[in-house]
Amino acid sequence: MSAGRGAASRLRAAGWLDEPLPGVRLSIEVFPPKTPEATDRLWQNLELFAAAGPRFLSVTCGAGGSGESGTFPLAVAIQERFGVPVAAHLTCAFAPRAEIDALLERYRAARITRIVALRGDPPKDTGPYRPRPDGYAYAVDLVRAIQRMGGFEVSVACYPEVHPEAPSAAFDLDNLKRKVEAGAVRAIGQYCFDTDRILRFRDAVARAGIPCEFVPGIMPIHSFAQIRRFSAACGASIPGWLADLFDGVPEGSALHGMIAATVVTEQVRRLAAAGFEAIHVYALNRAELPLAIVQILKAARQGAAG
Ligand code: FAD
Repeated sequence: MSAGRGAASRLRAAGWLDEPLPGVRLSIEVFPPKTPEATDRLWQNLELFAAAGPRFLSVTCGAGGSGESGTFPLAVAIQERFGVPVAAHLTCAFAPRAEIDALLERYRAARITRIVALRGDPPKDTGPYRPRPDGYAYAVDLVRAIQRMGGFEVSVACYPEVHPEAPSAAFDLDNLKRKVEAGAVRAIGQYCFDTDRILRFRDAVARAGIPCEFVPGIMPIHSFAQIRRFSAACGASIPGWLADLFDGVPEGSALHGMIAATVVTEQVRRLAAAGFEAIHVYALNRAELPLAIVQILKAARQGAAG
């Protein structure tokens, strides 16, 4: 795929390049696949993601935070194969501290020095979260441990719509502040379809004097039914306008894809227009919509240069 100068001037003539898209860089999140077929598909997509020159590729980890989840080998393999920056997600709450520390040492030895430090969630239907006595109770405790160890660049999670367990928005923001004071340099946002809410959250972070980069997260909608389920579980809301857009649209249809592309493109455009220079894309191992964003940003860059 290559959008040449000609394509860029056509985009500009059509008004696509009026917004400051060229500066935006993407980080792209994938998860360790579970079947050989899914693994093949992911590697094909990773090839495309790596070729797009991402800021970094990040690899999620399953509950438990152990190397068993497949995060470690996938993160190392991506780094070795493509030489792109890789961030490994690490959840802390369901393994003993010693196990987490040992995994961090393995990451360091493998030269994976970017960690997304997270608490993680208890398995479904097991009741509210309870810290284990021999574990890191919250993400802030993990960030402190990583800082003590040294040599890592730490990102953490943040929540424009407030984490569902937080007693208040102020408490949640203060939690982010403590994670940054503990050493995190970047806060990656939970996805949020309400762009105004993301902008208000950015203002709140600035007002609270939290000295970190806030990178909004966006979720391309490959399946609206799936996103509805995810959102109910993680506390992200589905705005009425979004539900209206997908109302009666069959899953997997071309129409579904067209609406999803419009939604994600519009959100990227608005975030870029609001001055964000980095966006985190929850790719869910799918390539089409993330690559649509890549393609538009690439054409915009070429347009700016041409
Ligand atoms: P924390 O920052 O520890 O906060 C969790 C909750 O506890 C918040 O409500 C906070 O306000 C509250 N809290 C903090 N300190 C205290 C305290 N002392 N007492 C009481 N309450 C407190 N999950 C995975 O399993 N694997 C992944 O790879 C993964 N990647 C993610 C990537 C991103 C960018 C995001 C946004 C989320 C990701 N998650 C992942 C989900 C994440 O694990 C959950 O959202 C989890 O519920 C909270 O994690 P956290 O790191 O934000 O926790």
